[in-house]
Amino acid sequence: MTDRWSADDPCHGPYGGGADPAGCGDPARFEVARHLRTPLHVCPVHLGPSLLLADGVLWPPVISLIRARA
Ligand SMILES: [Zn+2]
Repeated sequence: MTDRWSADDPCHGPYGGGADPAGCGDPARFEVARHLRTPLHVCPVHLGPSLLLADGVLWPPVISLIRARA
């Protein structure tokens, strides 16, 4: 594997808080660029909600695939 992110990099969606113990916890597959904030790593389920609900998301969204489906 040459991924930049470890296999246990978790989803931080849908709000981008990153500290919610009741959060998703699934492996992140996408990185959403944000204005003046750290990029948001999310799973496929939370990609859509995070674009609409997380703080600082650029529009149109700038999304990178950080992990291909295994
Ligand atoms: Zn998720």
